Amino acid sequence: MRPRLSVDEYTKGILAGDRNTLSRAITITESRLKEDQILASAILQDILPYAGNALRIGITGVPGVGKSTFIEVLGKHITSLGKRVAVLAIDPSSKKSGGSILGDKTRMEKLAHDPMAFIRPSATGLSLGGVARSTRESMLLCEAAGYEVILIETVGVGQSETLVKGMTDFFLLLMLAGAGDELQGMKKGITEMADLIAINKCDGNNKAAAQKAMAEFRNALHLLPEPESGFSNPVVCCSAAEESGIAEIWEHVQRFHEITSENGFLKKNRQLQNLDWMQDSVRQMLEESFYDHPDIKRKLTAVKKAVAKGELLPAAAAQQLINLFVKRTI
Ligand code: GDP
Repeated sequence: MRPRLSVDEYTKGILAGDRNTLSRAITITESRLKEDQILASAILQDILPYAGNALRIGITGVPGVGKSTFIEVLGKHITSLGKRVAVLAIDPSSKKSGGSILGDKTRMEKLAHDPMAFIRPSATGLSLGGVARSTRESMLLCEAAGYEVILIETVGVGQSETLVKGMTDFFLLLMLAGAGDELQGMKKGITEMADLIAINKCDGNNKAAAQKAMAEFRNALHLLPEPESGFSNPVVCCSAAEESGIAEIWEHVQRFHEITSENGFLKKNRQLQNLDWMQDSVRQMLEESFYDHPDIKRKLTAVKKAVAKGELLPAAAAQQLINLFVKRTI
């Protein structure tokens, strides 16, 4: 194992844009060791004044929609404009499979070799809440290291979209034409969360279907109330494979940035996100220390058994355990 750096060395390295130090600092935020957590929070506190300057973009869509192809092309477009881009991921499945989206860097080989880009796979072995926390922290570290655009990829399953929406400024939904995707998205409310919907794979034989889906979405979105951001969500077509529609999407993102910087939405949204983050942290820390508590550990199995057998009401069981926890903690 390499020797650990001091907080100061980490901070200086990150602020100097040193990728190796940045990577190591991210690894520390992903660690569950107490000493690493203390080190991570000291580093984060130090870099905080230098964070927050990037535009944070969440990108979601079902597996196979073309997220990694799209992110590579969009990432290259952004770096070609002279901006540094960092790509992070939240993958709820990575815990089970041991692998993760972005884990295979060959999926974004061109971007991975771009000196203006930094790609980091999703953390593994953490709970979804843990991954969300470390991704938020990684984002701040990347910002302090000078990355001006942060792309956060997530697969379109479960809660991960809500988590990514809660930590980004702009939420981009990639979709495919047909196959009931439109309805599925509508049901899950994801389309309502999106600041922009892009129908990908608008090429070859699929072009007409993609354009039809675009028109349908535009109609459906007309029925929704005007978004609070003041930016009315565009629906566009693109082809990540043919690299078409990408520049247009980036222009929309830029326009969103201008509008929401001017009308105060960007700032207000981040303030609310920070408050949510604090609340989440309280919940998570309380829960961790609850289950870590020796008295709870001792009692939990018996209480669970009694609840499962129907001998004890779940709420009464929770109250008993909480009484035990509170008595010993205060
Ligand atoms: P992800 O699972 O969402 O990350 O999707 P990938 O980026 O891995 O892409 C899934 C498959 O779709 C791959 O075989 C890609 O080559 C293909 N693909 C991605 N974008 C496009 C596109 O714009 N047009 C076409 N025809 N295929 C694409």
